[in-house]
Amino acid sequence: MSVVSGSSYQDLQREVWNAGRCSGCGACVAVCPADAIVFCSDQTICPENRFYCKEVVDGVPCGACYAVCPRVGTIQGRGLLGEYRSIIAAKAGSEIPHKQSGGAVTAILTHALETDMIDAVVTVTEDRFTLQPQSVVITSSGDLIRHAGSRYAWWVPLLAALKEAVLKKKCRRIAVIGLPCVTEALALMKKSDNDLVRPYARSIRLVLGLFCTETFDYDHLVGDILGRRYKLMPYDIERLNVKGGLDVTKTDGEVIRIPLKELEEAIRPGCTICTDLTAREADISAGAIGSPEGYTTLIIRSGVGEAFVHSAVAAGALIVDETIDRQPIESLAAKKAARGIPRG
Ligand SMILES: Cc1cc2nc3c(=O)[nH]c(=O)nc-3n(C[C@H](O)[C@H](O)[C@H](O)COP(=O)(O)OP(=O)(O)OC[C@H]3O[C@@H](n4cnc5c(N)ncnc54)[C@H](O)[C@@H]3O)c2cc1C
Ligand code: SF4
Ligand code: SF4
Repeated sequence: MSVVSGSSYQDLQREVWNAGRCSGCGACVAVCPADAIVFCSDQTICPENRFYCKEVVDGVPCGACYAVCPRVGTIQGRGLLGEYRSIIAAKAGSEIPHKQSGGAVTAILTHALETDMIDAVVTVTEDRFTLQPQSVVITSSGDLIRHAGSRYAWWVPLLAALKEAVLKKKCRRIAVIGLPCVTEALALMKKSDNDLVRPYARSIRLVLGLFCTETFDYDHLVGDILGRRYKLMPYDIERLNVKGGLDVTKTDGEVIRIPLKELEEAIRPGCTICTDLTAREADISAGAIGSPEGYTTLIIRSGVGEAFVHSAVAAGALIVDETIDRQPIESLAAKKAARGIPRG
């Protein structure tokens, strides 16, 4: 058995948790074979170990959590936007009511589910009443369409449901939608020779990364800023959109703009050292910036990503427009790359 013998949650605790470097990606939570790494509801900055660790308690080689953590990984940024084959603007060929940009992410993945290219999507949805995010496995295109849209608040480890998809549901053709930190963790999973990690790597067919500048602590954003300061209850909110500020669209149609400066206090600490805007490790990355209104910017990075996009375009599920402005993408990517301490 090939494992990173000697590494355990205690190394994560020292190098990542206590150092304020945790992104909250949840990769360690997903791969821990003892289910011993958890985020507690009163302490959401980083996870903690509960009850047991194979390596520490019984001396059984494990090291799974350490092997997949992007905050101790050695992934190097490859250029501002990473490696890619093409950049396009695209939108869904049919109506996606809750889409965030052009609905391209939902369109590519619903088409993939309907044509059996994938058997599950691991993603983050939300309770529309409380806006609390959830890590989930979706297996039907109807559910995927219902849950379109971006979740900017953080409440649960993003990748936690990967365990359910691989071990409980036995899915072997999974697409994961993830923020850049999640795509970095998945890249480490794919490179790892740890036998406890390999089943996860083997089961992932497509990684769809979302552009990301930061995420906000759920209680801080929804409770303190939206609720107490702006008197906006989560059930009165139809849509959140971050674009130079936070635009809150209420269910009655009124839009309230909150300056980004006011949100700074809610940014998760692990985001302040993050330097990847465009999810450089994904097969396809998706964002709003760079495309005309109503479209999604897609950075297609791998042959796998290209195959998914081509298939959706051929079926009319995805409509492509070549009008892309790279300058704002590069400029935001440079701004993020200059932030914090680059990993090495
Ligand atoms: C926290 C965050 C920050 C972002 N910051 C930027 C930015 O600065 N600039 C920019 O151009 N774009 C940013 N984006 C991306 C943008 O908001 C859209 O997600 C992207 O343009 C795709 O739009 P779409 O209409 O194609 O996606 P949709 O068709 O609406 O589908 C989105 C899919 O993503 C899933 N999803 C939503 N939130 C998450 C999440 N947190 N983790 C995993 N899966 C999720 C949904 O379940 C849904 O399946 C950000 C997204 C998020 C979540
Ligand atoms: S960054 Fe991800 S893998 Fe690393 S400790 Fe935090 S949640 Fe776990
Ligand atoms: S800013 Fe970085 S660490 Fe924070 S959620 Fe986005 S990708 Fe993850």
